[in-house]
Amino acid sequence: MFETVPGQQRPKALFERALADGSLSHAYLLAGPEGLGKVAFAREVGVALVASCGGCGACAECERARRGAHPDLRVIEREGERIRLEQVEPLVAELALKPFAAERRVWVVPEVEQLMPEAANKLLKSVEEPPAHVHFLFVSDRLERVLPTIVSRCQVVEFRPISDVEVEAYLRDTFGVTGEEGRALARLSRGSVERAARFATDARGARLREEYLKHVARLAGRPAEGGETKSSPARMFLAVLDKRLAAIGDETQEALAERLVEIEAQAAEERDRAWHRKRAEAFAKRERDRRARQASVDALELVVSWLRDLWTVACGADGAILNCDHADELAADAVARPEFYARLLTAAATARKDLYLNVDQKLALQAMFARFEEVARSA
Ligand SMILES: [Zn+2]
Repeated sequence: MFETVPGQQRPKALFERALADGSLSHAYLLAGPEGLGKVAFAREVGVALVASCGGCGACAECERARRGAHPDLRVIEREGERIRLEQVEPLVAELALKPFAAERRVWVVPEVEQLMPEAANKLLKSVEEPPAHVHFLFVSDRLERVLPTIVSRCQVVEFRPISDVEVEAYLRDTFGVTGEEGRALARLSRGSVERAARFATDARGARLREEYLKHVARLAGRPAEGGETKSSPARMFLAVLDKRLAAIGDETQEALAERLVEIEAQAAEERDRAWHRKRAEAFAKRERDRRARQASVDALELVVSWLRDLWTVACGADGAILNCDHADELAADAVARPEFYARLLTAAATARKDLYLNVDQKLALQAMFARFEEVARSA
């Protein structure tokens, strides 16, 4: 049932047991750091709950539910910044209705920390005393921001980063990325399968990681090769990020265009079409912003990984490097004293904090590069 989500043995065992002996709670909150496949997991549980096969994963009914086309499995995603009352109200109103096709009705609510208080209040009574056939699967990357009134009514299921060995197996089996590169990408993913998937997609495609690392190596003191001397490595690094952001913009735009064509074909009335168009456009914008932020964070994490590796090698502990597929270059580059790399790492840590706080991503990176220059000048 959970083949698509690597690792997470404890949550899997918990739900398998509850499904088998019928001891399911009415409200779960799947919580843990981002990138662990929690939403995919919640959807799979939802499929198992509404499909008459119990979630074989192979039949037409499972397939329909996975596509989001099963009337008893609903996924409530925020449309703007937050999940608003207007999104919740109609669903609460129809909660008491019998399931359409299944024996149960399931709601999956990603980013439940984004529930507006009035929307949460509307939901609370249903979460507290739900009709027997209703199940809620709430998901959050930020448990500390979920309203306590929601948390206290849920069984909290904790997701943890998975091991490097599990990530490595996932990269091999799903993407065919193996060897030293597979090991390096597993270490760089720090237990997040979604980050691992992004690195693997890059490794099999644009290979931006290699470009980023080349510029970071120069930022950390590697001399320029011919032809590179005139351009600043910081500017070149940001140009790689720009390329990635442009690609993300194109991809989300294409997906939106396809969705708009579907809407024209499906909805009969112009009023319905307008409503669907508005939702599709909001979704596309949210998706683009989310992926842009991830791309910036991934780029920054590569900077941090390289500096950390240089520091590790300079300290004489080569075995612990993350970018183990670049071990020779790291050994050749790490000629400065460990303190130099430690100071660069401090500058990068500030940028990382800013990025996680959603400060303008490019400004945060530019400020970091400026601090790098100061460190280099005073070295
Ligand atoms: Zn099935």
